Amino acid sequence: MSETTAPPASAELAARARKLDAADELAGKRAEFVLDEVIYLDGNSLGALPAAVPGRMADVITRQWGELRIRSWDESGWWTAPERIGDRIAPLIGAAPGQVVVGDSTSVNVFKALVAAVRMAGDGRDEIVVDATTFPTDGYIARSAARMTGCTLRPVTPAEVPDVLGPRTAVVLLNHADYRTGRLHDLPSLTSAVHAAGALAVWDLCHTAGALPVGVDEHGVDLAVGCTYKYLNGGPGSPAYLYVRRDLQDRFDSPLPGWNSHVEPFGMHGDYEPARGAPRGRVGTPDILSMLALEAALEVWDGVSVEAVRAKSLALTDFFLECVAEYVEPGRVESLTPAAHEERGSQVALCCDDAGDVMKRLIERGVVGDFRPPNLLRFGFTPLYVGFADVERAARVLGEVVG
Ligand SMILES: *Cc1c(COP(=O)(O)O)cnc(C)c1O
Repeated sequence: MSETTAPPASAELAARARKLDAADELAGKRAEFVLDEVIYLDGNSLGALPAAVPGRMADVITRQWGELRIRSWDESGWWTAPERIGDRIAPLIGAAPGQVVVGDSTSVNVFKALVAAVRMAGDGRDEIVVDATTFPTDGYIARSAARMTGCTLRPVTPAEVPDVLGPRTAVVLLNHADYRTGRLHDLPSLTSAVHAAGALAVWDLCHTAGALPVGVDEHGVDLAVGCTYKYLNGGPGSPAYLYVRRDLQDRFDSPLPGWNSHVEPFGMHGDYEPARGAPRGRVGTPDILSMLALEAALEVWDGVSVEAVRAKSLALTDFFLECVAEYVEPGRVESLTPAAHEERGSQVALCCDDAGDVMKRLIERGVVGDFRPPNLLRFGFTPLYVGFADVERAARVLGEVVG
């Protein structure tokens, strides 16, 4: 092609975007969400509303609660919702049924998992290793769990974890993906390093469940937690989940042994005897409204393979980085997100001096990401409802805003 007939880069990228969208096997999923013209790149913080949720909630509130009232604990399946919805999440994280229970927040589940892991660890193991770069709540909870169990807390970067493991390590709490940079940590190899040292591995899957295959069973993860309002679209404050590997369930000694985790909750016994299996991770009465909104939200995963989601996620983030390189003046922003696919989650983090102001202007122009102080622009890519044309437009608007 001669110089004079070469289309401008933007026409070429826009044409590529159209082709990629036309070939996208997940493209039809977007219609299952309530969305508008806004390019929503914040599904890693709060997933969009699945279209099935409002109708389900109307039924839950007016019929199940309004008409059936207390009968719904049984007749509408309220009582068993935590395990039932846990089993719906299980395949998304690579877990066989019976190991995931839904309830409480991620913070609370981090606490349950860490204290239970210390109680399962062998004698003489009195150290909790925690990702020093973690989302703050995990670090706060780990510090308190360490104080309560008489352990020492060792905050280190995930890369340093293998070097600090030893005969005193009880448990290691790690994030599958870094919430700031989007870096994906090597779950299989870190888990085996933790096991080689005789310790337990607890993984926080908040930024990977629903974005990429996790494989908790396959990789021998001991315990895992995660929220459901990011890539799982459960809605604001939707309950989190706790995974306890099957062969550890009998040894799971909850630090919050509420009546819902009793073997016979309605026996109203004075003595505590834990339930078997996943319900042992329950605490008190489940937040049924949020939980049933989550259950409706999870229907968008019917017929979706997490592998297809991962493939599209990588294609979206690759394409975004390529468009940014084309549209944004060199040196104006710098990507903190690893270029290597095996080290990348489903978000792109761009460093930029005036990031707060830039994000404000992006949002004004209909491109929603988020700002993480002091200088980070964060863009989450949710393959079920973000397309390639969205990505091209987002990068083009970014180029104009910072130009
Ligand atoms: C989002 C997130 C949380 C949220 O915790 P909540 O208790 O649900 O508020 C915790 N940890 C990580 C790593 C997260 O990304």
